[in-house]
Amino acid sequence: MSYSASHNSDLICGLCPHACRIASGNLGTCRVRENKGGSLSLPLYGKLSALAVDPIEKKPLYHFFPGNAIFSVGFYGCNFHCPFCQNYTISQEIRKNVRTVLPAECVDLALQHKSFGIAYTYSEPLVHFEYVLDTARIAREKGLRNVLVTNGYLNQKPLKELLPYIDAANVDLKSFSDSFYRDELGGSLKPVMRFIETAAESIHLEVTTLVIPGKNDSDDEISSLARFLSSVNRGIPYHLSAYYPTYKYTLQATKAETIFHLAELSSEFLDYVYPGNIPGGSDTRCPACGAELISRRGYYTRVTGLKKGGCSSCGEEIYGMFA
Ligand code: SF4
Repeated sequence: MSYSASHNSDLICGLCPHACRIASGNLGTCRVRENKGGSLSLPLYGKLSALAVDPIEKKPLYHFFPGNAIFSVGFYGCNFHCPFCQNYTISQEIRKNVRTVLPAECVDLALQHKSFGIAYTYSEPLVHFEYVLDTARIAREKGLRNVLVTNGYLNQKPLKELLPYIDAANVDLKSFSDSFYRDELGGSLKPVMRFIETAAESIHLEVTTLVIPGKNDSDDEISSLARFLSSVNRGIPYHLSAYYPTYKYTLQATKAETIFHLAELSSEFLDYVYPGNIPGGSDTRCPACGAELISRRGYYTRVTGLKKGGCSSCGEEIYGMFA
């Protein structure tokens, strides 16, 4: 495995900013990568937690081939330990006694399902870096698109190795506060910001924040976050999703009015802001003339006003990749 260095009999994993020092026979913080006799191994290579065909809108990606379904694969383990994780049964648990799906088989399955690509999703895919890279390379050779749904907690060197094979990503920007990242998730904010900046240079990017009452829902925080995204590209679609109590968090669910209020604030800085996990407000409108471009009712999506990647009413170019 790449991205490791020896330190006496320990290994330092260089994949993500945690830089775990792993003694022989032990696992890193993600519980995915192991020091096996002095070399870093990925015992969960090809051990998938889920295989499904989902609407691309479920990732969520709203400006990337809208209305299409994508073959989606999930993993076990994560380099964050969010107490509000909505997928904690796979992100915080490890199962080895599941069938191995090697990269070539994964690509074959996507082709059999007539999918236009593969989404690496559900729990954190990038701690399975070698599997994602190997699969994405084969998928690209076969004409498929590759999509990441990730927390963006990856070092720049592996990110730059992977990006040439990736077409789109949704990055979970969980907060705009370093202390929230440190205290709640066991990480830090800056590497995720750098991930977003680097990825936005070469792939289609959307960003999601799960809005948790009293934790990351202040006007100041969301405005600062939206301002940062706008400094990267004000076309980046931004999804503000309502939290529901799960795993270790028992706080009340986010009110719809909070999501709509924060969406309005963010719209000062960004052209496309979408409420998530609540009904309404998910249509895409042209930022120049206001015409409807894409209509969404749940996961039923219709492209209504796009022509050659632009608004069919006024010709404004729309951020995204459209069929
Ligand atoms: S990928 Fe896993 S083992 Fe490597 S530094 Fe990150 S948490 Fe530690």
